[in-house]
Amino acid sequence: MYILSDAHRELRDHTRFLVETYIEPRANEIDRSGEYPHDVIKALAQEGILALPIPKEYGGDYRDILSWFIVMEEVGRACGTTANILASHSLCAYVIEISGTEEQKHRFLPDLASGKMIGAMAMTELNAGTDSGAIESSGIHREDGKWVLNGRKVMIASAGEADRYIIMIKTDPSKGTRGISAFLVDKGTPGLSFGARYETTGLRGLSVGEVVLENCVVPGDRLIGAEGGGFKTIMKSLDRTRPAVGAMAVGLAQKAMELAIVRAKERQQFGLPLADQQMVQAKLADMACQVDAARLLVYHAAAQRDSGVERFTRESAQAKLFASDAAISIASEALQIFGGWGYMRQYPVERLWRDARALQLADGSNEILRVVIARSLL
Ligand SMILES: Cc1cc2nc3c(=O)[nH]c(=O)nc-3n(C[C@H](O)[C@H](O)[C@H](O)COP(=O)(O)OP(=O)(O)OC[C@H]3O[C@@H](n4cnc5c(N)ncnc54)[C@H](O)[C@@H]3O)c2cc1C
Repeated sequence: MYILSDAHRELRDHTRFLVETYIEPRANEIDRSGEYPHDVIKALAQEGILALPIPKEYGGDYRDILSWFIVMEEVGRACGTTANILASHSLCAYVIEISGTEEQKHRFLPDLASGKMIGAMAMTELNAGTDSGAIESSGIHREDGKWVLNGRKVMIASAGEADRYIIMIKTDPSKGTRGISAFLVDKGTPGLSFGARYETTGLRGLSVGEVVLENCVVPGDRLIGAEGGGFKTIMKSLDRTRPAVGAMAVGLAQKAMELAIVRAKERQQFGLPLADQQMVQAKLADMACQVDAARLLVYHAAAQRDSGVERFTRESAQAKLFASDAAISIASEALQIFGGWGYMRQYPVERLWRDARALQLADGSNEILRVVIARSLL
């Protein structure tokens, strides 16, 4: 097993303490009520957690990317909603860090690092999901240098709740993905509004909904990166976010396995604990292998970035793909070990199962990640 440094172990233990203090007591309630957990995010921000993905020169506390993945695993153990909010927040920050000017980074990143503002990223549209090159949201560059943005984004995490949105816009419809640009639009900007919020199966507090632009006028310096460079930037940013989603999946899977172990030891049938049944033992053994393998793939992706590799698309896709598939399989088998009780809301295992399902869809569906991985091999 990969050996963490003292600093990483310390961060993991401290994060676990924060998670037990602020997140675990709220996780079931967030799931029941569907409430966006502003209080939890605020507490994590005050503890400096939101600064971890952002470089120190822009108000952050970046150490290495492994530190961030360790945090994501710990948060993912307790609450999928909270972990996903952190993932979207960091994705917004990565786009600014990767392609913003120095002036934009100094202006926009510190408020994300402190948690004064929560970030989100809006790409998906009704007719452009996996095929993100097909987005139709438009941007017209006016003579006075300002941009007029129009469009409707769907299935956006933190919609209406985040303060700062990276929004992907087609600024040149003739150029496919090379005609996509990234804009930063803050909540409260005239012309930015929020449409329907969906009823989701899991991640119930995430506030997945629509982001709507209607003749939304933004200054020229709200274009982040080169005109037409947005797709490349988002792909680079996703190299970092996908293993973070993988880390969250590892945390969820680890938790499901721990719950199953406790249940298997406690629950007696045929005069014996379930744990004495070899068929149950086999399930637990498979879970342990999957959790460890998934975590190693997350750490492997982190090692690429932390050793200075600029693009680590395959390692990143592998980590997210394997870990999210493992999470749904482990959550499902953990529920099975709980028997019919696992299907009842009084036990947390069904929440883990519902939350895990989303991880195979967002940040690149697992089908498209397989395409990405295969392309890098062929
Ligand atoms: C919980 C949640 C949070 C989300 N948050 C955000 C967000 O914050 N921002 C954002 O922009 N989007 C977000 N999304 C949207 C997500 O990115 C899309 O759902 C995803 O890109 C798939 O698009 P789609 O749902 O339109 O499915 P479609 O593109 O219609 O695909 C349907 C199915 O076909 C498969 N498929 C499509 N093309 C191929 C292909 N070439 N090869 C093989 N299989 C293929 C897909 O994998 C999928 O299984 C979120 C989604 C969820 C569920």
